[in-house]
Amino acid sequence: MNILLVGAGLSGAVIGRKLAEAGHNITIVDSRAHVGGNCHTERDAETGVMVHVYGPHIFHTDDEEVWDYVNSFETFQPYKNRVKTTSRDQVFSLPINLHTINQFYNRTMRPDEARAFIEQQADTSITDPQNFEEQAMRFVGADLYEAFFKGYTIKQWGVSPTELPAAILKRLPVRFNYDDNYFFHRFQGMPENGYTQMIERILDHPGITVQLETRFTREMGEPYDHVFYSGPLDGYFDYERGRLGYRTLDFERFTYEGDYQGCAVMNYGEESVPYTRITEHKHFSPWESHEGSVCYREFSRACEPDDIPYYPIRQVKEKALLADYVAMAETAPDVTFVGRLGTYRYLDMDVTIREALDTSRTFLESVETGATM
Ligand code: FAD
Ligand code: UDP
Repeated sequence: MNILLVGAGLSGAVIGRKLAEAGHNITIVDSRAHVGGNCHTERDAETGVMVHVYGPHIFHTDDEEVWDYVNSFETFQPYKNRVKTTSRDQVFSLPINLHTINQFYNRTMRPDEARAFIEQQADTSITDPQNFEEQAMRFVGADLYEAFFKGYTIKQWGVSPTELPAAILKRLPVRFNYDDNYFFHRFQGMPENGYTQMIERILDHPGITVQLETRFTREMGEPYDHVFYSGPLDGYFDYERGRLGYRTLDFERFTYEGDYQGCAVMNYGEESVPYTRITEHKHFSPWESHEGSVCYREFSRACEPDDIPYYPIRQVKEKALLADYVAMAETAPDVTFVGRLGTYRYLDMDVTIREALDTSRTFLESVETGATM
């Protein structure tokens, strides 16, 4: 079959590769000048440092098949995400752990003492947290919430934390030990030569043609037997019902001779600092040595029509609109909507790859049995 894939990010690359290996002819178009989607990495021209162009990306998963998959295309160096945050003129460790708690309250508590102490700070009258703020008040209490989460979240999402789902905060653990690994997952690492090299290797198959700087239009799909679309769901339908809300990011680049902040990611918990975090990219590649350093200050704001969509805002308004577009997508013939934009969900890289592998399998089975997707 002749198959068109829209988007040369992880979704497009993994599906393209699987279908090409099964003997199909694959064309992939991407409006950008590079492959890799939002995982794109490139060497900074001035410092030589490998930069995560669209924001910091750390690979972490419990999915062994996905871990084996990425390792078959790229060497992964061991990497643990240890995030710091600046608040009230001090630097603290994230996610909130025993070090954070003891430093914040100027105490020397043992794990059980800290657990009991935090339970005293927490608002135990909240039995079923309905939003982000309630979730924070219930589990860490007002002091820690205000120092680390409130300002950051207002900057990141542009709305009051009372309007955000509790689930956003549930992604972050609170630990009563000194484990400062941001993620729980068994497998964690950083691709030695960047995500873009890994994705170029996934795409390196004689059955795959990639056309960059090519914006998809629906007519483009007509000659093909099937289209996999990893662009924005509402964009496929020319936004005819309205636009799904996204947050976009602006990055302000600056360089520094030496080591600017001593870690890859420094968050800023307070609203008075206009950016959410600073990423110092050379700390993502501790096995490399660079004198100079390149950092990005990261600012979050509402996504306008020409901006790059980053984080889907899944508030009540969006949910109704999303239901409309999902219904339209289900009846669109010979098109499968995939990936974080095509399904309007926040997807980590490992989940993106898992879904791409599963989608490819289902598609190949349907081709074999003569059913359509
Ligand atoms: P994308 O990477 O967005 O790729 C979609 C591609 O489609 C893009 O290249 C785009 O140019 C192209 N496209 C869109 N519309 C069109 C069109 N009309 N015509 C042609 N091309 C089009 N995940 C982790 O696991 N760990 C992390 O630490 C992590 N950090 C993140 C940090 C940030 C700031 C963000 C926003 C995401 C992060 N992620 C992280 C998630 C990760 O970026 C996604 O899992 C991954 O990018 C999803 O791949 P995708 O192919 O579905 O989408
Ligand atoms: N968050 C916060 N302070 C921090 C880090 C995170 O308030 O220092 C909040 C913020 O609302 C964020 C959410 O917790 O969206 C989830 O954090 P995560 O690190 O998973 O953010 P993401 O990967 O979405 O940027």
